[in-house]
Amino acid sequence: MKRLMVLGILIAGGGLSLTLRAAQQAAQPAPKVVEVEKVKDNLYMMKGGGGNSAVFIAAEGVTVVDTKNPGWGQPLLDKIRSVTDKPVMRIINTHTHGDHVSGNVEFPETVDIVTHANTKLLMEQMNPVTGLAAPPPGPNIFQRNNGKGLPKRTFTDTMTIGSGNDRIDLFYFGRAHTGGDAFVLFRPLRVLHTGDAFHTRDLPIMDANNGGSGVEFAGTLAKAAAALSKDVDTIINGHNPTTTTPADLKTQSDFIADFVKFVQDAKKSGKTVDDVVKTWKTPANYAGYAAPTEARIRADAQVVWNETK
Ligand SMILES: [Zn+2]
Repeated sequence: MKRLMVLGILIAGGGLSLTLRAAQQAAQPAPKVVEVEKVKDNLYMMKGGGGNSAVFIAAEGVTVVDTKNPGWGQPLLDKIRSVTDKPVMRIINTHTHGDHVSGNVEFPETVDIVTHANTKLLMEQMNPVTGLAAPPPGPNIFQRNNGKGLPKRTFTDTMTIGSGNDRIDLFYFGRAHTGGDAFVLFRPLRVLHTGDAFHTRDLPIMDANNGGSGVEFAGTLAKAAAALSKDVDTIINGHNPTTTTPADLKTQSDFIADFVKFVQDAKKSGKTVDDVVKTWKTPANYAGYAAPTEARIRADAQVVWNETK
């Protein structure tokens, strides 16, 4: 009897502490876990907390492509420490969106930051993204950090950084996801980071607010595929959980071209954006493509509509 009572108290006590623990966990933000995938011996894809980051370890030090959402810069730096002791020398941001640039402010002041010239202007503004909810009013993340994390160097068409085994080439092929999408080629490794110009196999954001274009998007990707396919085996995408290939980049270009034609045909035949939202379906020949949300179809259709005379 006594033993039973003791057991009962233990169980009750255990239940209480479990409840307390659950309450504590609910009050705490989820832990920020950066996942690592080795792409080459000295190149990693780091996932979670926003866009995919690339971490390139060269003789002189580390180059990081894209730095994730606010609060994810330090977890990313910690994860980089788990794969190399070399110093982080530079950040390259593929484009202006908050889930690719916000971690910049958590990197040391000494780190070089390189973007396309248009992206530097856009990062100074951090405009709302077409089709997404506007950010809270007030100063943006770079203004709140007195300009820390903004680009220090820019390019317009191409830029080469380093040489030999350390060489990185940056390219701009025109308007697509934004007006400043950089393609980052780790030339000796034959790996390309496309940012959100090729985010994943799905209808992309066409961010007209930040210089992006629906009508020009597919052509920009086709140009990138034509220029770089011979130098690339592997693509790190802005958000795809696995790497893709230049053939996938070409397919994404075709997919977007098909969507744009559908919208333009609808406009020419006197239909409406609502009609497009009701009738457009991912064509069956695009295997592995996600079905976009109605909101995404509507936002993109409107961008293409506005650009079509
Ligand atoms: Zn983006």
